[in-house]
Amino acid sequence: MNISFENTETAFAYKADKELKGARFLFQTMGFPLFVQLGTRLTPFLMKTGLPIDGLIRKTIFKQFVGGETLTETAGVVSTLGKYDVQVILDYGVEGKEGEENFDMATEEFIRVINYAATQSNIPFMSIKVTGIASNTLLETLNDAPRLRSGIHDNELEIAEWDRVRDRMYVICEAAAEKNIGVLIDAEESWMQDPVDRLTMEMMEIFNKEKAVVYNTIQLYRHDRLHFLDISLQIAKQQGFILGMKLVRGAYMEKERERAYEKGYPSPIQIDKAASDRDYNAAIAFCIKHSDAIACIVASHNEESCLLAAQMMDVKGLAHNHPHVHFSQLYGMSDNISFNLAKEGFSVSKYLPFGPIRDVIPYLMRRAQENSSVSGQTGRELSLIKKELDRRHHR
Ligand SMILES: Cc1cc2nc3c(=O)[nH]c(=O)nc-3n(C[C@H](O)[C@H](O)[C@H](O)COP(=O)(O)OP(=O)(O)OC[C@H]3O[C@@H](n4cnc5c(N)ncnc54)[C@H](O)[C@@H]3O)c2cc1C
Repeated sequence: MNISFENTETAFAYKADKELKGARFLFQTMGFPLFVQLGTRLTPFLMKTGLPIDGLIRKTIFKQFVGGETLTETAGVVSTLGKYDVQVILDYGVEGKEGEENFDMATEEFIRVINYAATQSNIPFMSIKVTGIASNTLLETLNDAPRLRSGIHDNELEIAEWDRVRDRMYVICEAAAEKNIGVLIDAEESWMQDPVDRLTMEMMEIFNKEKAVVYNTIQLYRHDRLHFLDISLQIAKQQGFILGMKLVRGAYMEKERERAYEKGYPSPIQIDKAASDRDYNAAIAFCIKHSDAIACIVASHNEESCLLAAQMMDVKGLAHNHPHVHFSQLYGMSDNISFNLAKEGFSVSKYLPFGPIRDVIPYLMRRAQENSSVSGQTGRELSLIKKELDRRHHR
């Protein structure tokens, strides 16, 4: 195998000079932690006051990380990526809207996304957050429910509310199965994850009999998730379905540690980064070893993990486009991984959010925060962009 994630010509072939320079400016700006700290606090507030900062956001950070404000606006990005054999995971990026009416509206939007994806040749998956169709309070209550002394959750109102969540999830998965689109269910904070896991397993049992339609997500920054992966496979084998699993390190580390400390329970998070990396790579090895029974998505910007997965596939003799191993990176990040994998024939996608500017602000603020640290994989973006601009102008 001859992959190099250093090939910036392949990585950025889809970006004109002007776009690359815009990206360079953005990543340079995000390199100032104080500016990012201030910006991430002020922006949501300024948006609420109605100050006209939409235009500035649209031209900079929104353009870098988001596909558009509406589904149809994503078409340009989707078709550009398609020219390089890069696929798309569509993500309706609205977050934090509570209330039954909003949950029903989100369900309709998810189904619209599925129907749209089915009309495009390079959108094999869409993603959903259960927090988009269920209240955080309900998820937290149900998370603790099995630990109630009786072992039975007997609050009628909450049971009815959960039934409505299950119905929403069912119609989404049913539409996806019918249209042959995969549904990736995002992992949440640990205090809400149990009901998400249970619901996802239930849906897999129904829809994954012949092929993987529904995928759960495990966060390997949690020290209990390798064990959970093992148990999930046992259940899948017993029940006769294909286990769909998206592998991530996890996005809520600080929050998790703080809450555990404040409430005085042992932190669910690994002791250090090396432990997260070790479990992440072990999860890849486990999924590839059981690739007949597990369909996995290596969702990571970590070059070592992505390379390892690609090498393990070769060692096992799996075709690069094997339907049970897929790679994915966020749109706007790690093009050096996505485009170089695609060039070698691997099945790879960009995770592409869309939604009204106001609604995707939390997503954008997370991207700004993670790119403000100069250490780690994300800090590599700027140097890769600079390298490519240099290459283009010193030929
Ligand atoms: C396609 C896609 C889908 C995603 N879906 C989800 C999702 O559903 N739920 C979710 O939570 N996240 C999701 N993420 C985000 C993901 O969890 C990571 O935050 C992000 O990708 C960074 O990790 P990495 O593997 O790319 O690489 P790296 O940059 O190598 O790793 C950074 C990560 O390592 C872990 N880490 C860092 N420091 C420490 C430490 N001191 N101790 C222990 N662990 C540490 C943290 O998880 C941190 O985010 C998704 C990412 C992608 C690309």
